[in-house]
Amino acid sequence: MTEFTPLPSCADAYESNSLSVVQATQRITDLLSPVTASEIRPLREALDRILDGALISPIDVPPHNNSAMDGYAIHGTDVKSDLFTLQQIGIAFAGHPFKGNIQPGECIRIMTGAMMPAECDTVIMQEHVEVNDTLITIHGNHQQGQNVRLAGEDLQIGETVLTEGHKITPSDLGLIASLGIGELTVKRKLRVAFFSTGDELRSIGETLAPGEIYDSNRYTLYGMLSHLKVEILDMGVVPDQKQALRLALQQASEQADVVLTTGGVSVGDADYVKEMLEELGQVDFWKLAMKPGRPLAFGTINSTLFFGLPGNPVSVMVTFYQFVLPALQQLAGEAVPIRHHMQVNCVSTIRKLAGRFEFQRGILFKDEQGNTQVKTTGEQGSGILRSMSVANCFILLEEDCNGIKPNTMVTVQPFSGLI
Ligand code: AMP
Ligand code: MG
Repeated sequence: MTEFTPLPSCADAYESNSLSVVQATQRITDLLSPVTASEIRPLREALDRILDGALISPIDVPPHNNSAMDGYAIHGTDVKSDLFTLQQIGIAFAGHPFKGNIQPGECIRIMTGAMMPAECDTVIMQEHVEVNDTLITIHGNHQQGQNVRLAGEDLQIGETVLTEGHKITPSDLGLIASLGIGELTVKRKLRVAFFSTGDELRSIGETLAPGEIYDSNRYTLYGMLSHLKVEILDMGVVPDQKQALRLALQQASEQADVVLTTGGVSVGDADYVKEMLEELGQVDFWKLAMKPGRPLAFGTINSTLFFGLPGNPVSVMVTFYQFVLPALQQLAGEAVPIRHHMQVNCVSTIRKLAGRFEFQRGILFKDEQGNTQVKTTGEQGSGILRSMSVANCFILLEEDCNGIKPNTMVTVQPFSGLI
């Protein structure tokens, strides 16, 4: 009988020279120097870009006291606890202030957003009055100063509106427009080049020979990068040949701030990426105690950052979200974004061996009581890209965790909000 002893492989639970996820994150952060160059963009184009320097308000917002209701602007001193009657002497619309003087005992009709007359400090909702021609009878409990939006209550002149490194959101576009500002100074875009490696890879439109597969990694990378405002350089598929890899890496590193490759980074006989990185630049690390994504080559080629991602399609996405995305965000000058984690009840059994940090694919759902729970997507093979498509979160399982029984609290990282 022959005995079969498996060789060490990526499936091993533990390897002593692997870095932990936390250590790897720190090593990457240590090498980042955020971009300093900036450019001026029209306001709409600044969406999702990173603000260069703080934005200071040049005006008060709103610029004048105005009514928060449709109703009647009055002197606050006229307010009585019982019924009281005032004489209406005019009307103010938004954009059309009342021109005239309002004496005590008088009032004007006023619409939401209309400028408050200088003499008045209080607005009575129209639902709280009885109108008899120009005689306005007011009942109910009212307070001086009510229903008025004060000048500068949103922002005051000279106030910091947004801080350095802020990523511009849709609400920011409105806020900045409310200041009358039409252009913003934002950090320059990062240039990110990527290519797939593998003799087995064909592009869409080509016919597959036996043993060949379609390249999907360039499409997921394109998708993930497109959610960031970076310039994308897709360099196609590079075969498993040292010279071809050497040339592609040289070319990519000359043109980009960050170079990403997929595949060829493990210990197979045609895996040359790490060797080429050693030749052209510096390898910082290449083995991680995580699953999926154990082989991940990180280093530099001159001043360009290099991430040699694994070839398996799920590993590409996991390592991108966990390492490349935060690195790109910091490199782009973004103030460190918060990653939202949630603790939820997991209804599935999850198999896991202690030794590696695992990012399993999960589905957050609402149970019959409306509580959020999570279940696994099932098979977790790193080649099963469908597990990412059906998932809406990662289930984060620490290195020392050795499996989850149903109805255990777990930490999840929802996909929404990752970018
Ligand atoms: P490698 O890391 O090069 O050994 O690749 C690991 C696995 O991922 C192999 O099964 C490859 O065929 C597969 N793979 C590598 N690159 C790609 C790609 N661009 N698209 C789809 N699958 C890939
Ligand atoms: Mg390969």
